[in-house]
Amino acid sequence: MLLGWSIFSKVIGLYRKVIGSEGHSKVNNGARKGLALEIIGRDDHDVSRSNMSINAIKVLNRLHKNGYQAYLVGGGVRDLLLGHNPKDFDIATDATPEQIRDLFKNCRLIGRRFRLAHILFGREIIEVATLRGHHENTETDALGKQNDKGMLVRDNVYGNIDEDAERRDFTVNALYYDISDFSIKAYGGGLQDLENGILRMIGDPRVRYKEDPVRMLRAIRFATKLNMTISEDTRAPIKEMSSLMHAIPAARLFEEYQKLFLSGKALANYKMLNEYNLFESLFPLSAEVLEGNEGGKEDKLFQLVCKNTDNRIANDQRVTPAFIIAAFLWYPIERQAQTVMHESGMDNYDAMMVAMNEVCDSHCKSVSIPKRFSAMARDMWSLQLRLPRRAGARAFKLLAHPKFRAGYDLLLVRGEIEGGETAELAQWWTTFQHATEEIQRDMVRKVSGPKRRRAPNKRKS
Ligand code: ATP
Ligand code: MG
Repeated sequence: MLLGWSIFSKVIGLYRKVIGSEGHSKVNNGARKGLALEIIGRDDHDVSRSNMSINAIKVLNRLHKNGYQAYLVGGGVRDLLLGHNPKDFDIATDATPEQIRDLFKNCRLIGRRFRLAHILFGREIIEVATLRGHHENTETDALGKQNDKGMLVRDNVYGNIDEDAERRDFTVNALYYDISDFSIKAYGGGLQDLENGILRMIGDPRVRYKEDPVRMLRAIRFATKLNMTISEDTRAPIKEMSSLMHAIPAARLFEEYQKLFLSGKALANYKMLNEYNLFESLFPLSAEVLEGNEGGKEDKLFQLVCKNTDNRIANDQRVTPAFIIAAFLWYPIERQAQTVMHESGMDNYDAMMVAMNEVCDSHCKSVSIPKRFSAMARDMWSLQLRLPRRAGARAFKLLAHPKFRAGYDLLLVRGEIEGGETAELAQWWTTFQHATEEIQRDMVRKVSGPKRRRAPNKRKS
């Protein structure tokens, strides 16, 4: 982090020098709608190819050698300027998806709403997008289309780099590293905003949120990830526009859920999402049990689960998307089970099983859960019902259950929040796992109660 900061200060320091000296820098206020362009020459910034993915450089070079413009764009440039390791390297070019495909054997074209090319290098994917343009002059819906609420349902109108910059979300993401001369092109004051830690939407934030409401989630994610302040204009409309999130397809929201909760900033994101009424878009039923209940056990459990997840990521431990989902839906399941019991007269166990299905199905309508994760969540939930039943051989069988660890981890956090019997049960399982077989048998005997005697067979005479 210290290293990162020193690189960043150097870059920004040099950048100031550049801006002050004509010849190296160029300010072009003639760009459409006045989006300013600043160009930082190769000698005046520290973004180096040695910090980029080799595969990204290969793609940039091949596009360039074939006569196309090619830029590393967005988070890749932003994070290198900050001295961070970029999560991925995205490329923008004036080649069309088909032209890109002709250049790379290992290329796959994906996306309907936003068509782009994936160049595959083993496990690494380099995303290459054609520079986007404005929609006003589009003659055909086949390329660009908005629904009656202003949401972009298709965003495949191509344009030049100035137009592309205006189609990006935040100024700190409208940064382009040009492979032809190794300069950085920064639009809309992106470098100053990066230096000042300000997240600013390009254009009119209301229009941009309408076009793509996911930008509201992205504002929260970048604010916490980059430790930035969301500018007043960008921040102000979010709360009142949060209901637009309902229009986002469930599969896309699952992607955003993962980025928000499994990147080491789950707790900060959880708090901020709540502040902006956006938690509801990712966990509608969990938001319902929070309502009018701030600081209650539900809120405490959600925060603890986020904190534990962040700690695991900081310690390079594995995390699964299923854990937070299972934990966040546990209290909605308990609540739903009360309704089921009341309406059907089922006992608690059966009502909980029904509630698990209902809650899971209802959640998936808003935010999808890939099958392998929903199966794991179901295992974790049913283990909550089975872990109290330890008599006879049951405890040993449960210990061998493939998802025992995850179920036990959920019991642990519940115990920490709920105390009482749940905490005692969690403690029992903690001891049991680490005990010798002899002690385990003794523990089981104690929870099994007296053996029931079989009634003697009555002899038929
Ligand atoms: P990270 O990869 O660290 O999450 P990023 O900024 O690279 O951050 P990506 O989702 O990889 O984010 O997107 C790459 C770039 O594409 C962004 O920097 C931004 O310029 C642009 N972009 C992505 N999503 C949107 C969007 N919904 N609206 C406008 N521009 C977007
Ligand atoms: Mg990226």
